[in-house]
Amino acid sequence: MKPLKLLILGGSGEAADFARALAVDARYDVTLSLAGRTAEPMLVPGKLRKGGFGGAEGLAHTLTEERFDLLIDATHPFAVQMKANAIEAARAAGAPLLAIRRPAWIPSEGDRWIMVDSIEDAPAALGDTPRRAFLTTGRMELAPFRKAPQHFYVVRSVEAPSPEELPPRVELITARGPFKVDDERTLLEAHAIDVVVTKNSGGTATSAKLEAARALSLPVIMVERPDLPEALSVETVADALAWLERAHGSTSSA
Ligand code: NAP
Repeated sequence: MKPLKLLILGGSGEAADFARALAVDARYDVTLSLAGRTAEPMLVPGKLRKGGFGGAEGLAHTLTEERFDLLIDATHPFAVQMKANAIEAARAAGAPLLAIRRPAWIPSEGDRWIMVDSIEDAPAALGDTPRRAFLTTGRMELAPFRKAPQHFYVVRSVEAPSPEELPPRVELITARGPFKVDDERTLLEAHAIDVVVTKNSGGTATSAKLEAARALSLPVIMVERPDLPEALSVETVADALAWLERAHGSTSSA
C-alpha cells in the first residue's frame, strides 16, 4: 500500500516534533508547510515547503492536486487566519483535519498578570510612566509599541526585526527557546526589567519567563488567546500520534 500523505501546517514546536516522529515511519509521507516568516527555521527531516497557499481556496487546491490524505493544523496558537483556512480547505477538499492546540497558560498563585485582548492593547496597559519592559511578543508585532516611546524595551525574538519596526529606546536579544528559569531570572534582573509583555502562547518552551517574573514579583501583561474556530483537536503531539494510529494506522502499509 502507498504511504498515507500528510500535510502539516507548521510554525510551532509541535509541528516540528510531529514531523520528526513520523519521519522514521514508512507508513507516512509527510510534508511540513511553513509560512516562511523565519529565514532559518528549525531543521526537521522530510519534505518542507514554504510560503502561503493563496487562502483557503489555494490550500484546498494543493490538498486535491497533490493528493494529500490528511491535513494537520499545528500552527502557532495565534495564527487564527491559517486555522480558519485549514478548516475551510479540508472541508472543500474532503480531507480529514486534526488540529494540535496546546492549552493556554493559566496563572498560578503569586502571578501578577494583567490580561489584554490584543497586542494593540498592550502598550496602553504599560501606562504613561516610563518603564523597562521585556517584550517577547514576536518580531512581527512590535509596531504598537512604537506608539509608547516613553518606555525602554528589551526585545527578544528568534530573528532580528528590521530597525524601522523597533521602538526608539530598545535593546535587542536574538535567541530561540527553550529557556531556563534561572537564565530568565538573570536576564530580567540584569536588565532591571519591571514588566514582562507576552502573548499567551502556552507550552513549556517559553514559560520559564513567567516563573522568573513570579519569583521577582513582576507584573506580566498577558495577551489573551484569540477565539479559534472549532475543529477536531488534541492538545499534544503524543495525542496526535495516538489519534493517527487509531484512525489511520491500519489503513497504511506497515
Ligand atoms: P496567520 O495570520 O494565521 O496567517 C496569515 C497567512 O500566512 C495565511 O493566510 C497563510 O497565507 C500564511 N501561513 C500561515 N501559516 C502558514 C503555514 N504553516 N504554511 C503556509 N502558509 C502559512 O498567521 P501568521 O501571520 O503567521 O501569524 C499570526 C500570529 O501567529 C502572530 O501572532 C505570530 O506572531 C504568530 N506566530 C506565527 C508563526 C508562524 O510560523 N506562522 C510562528 C510563531 C508565531 P495564505 O493565505 O496565502 O495561505
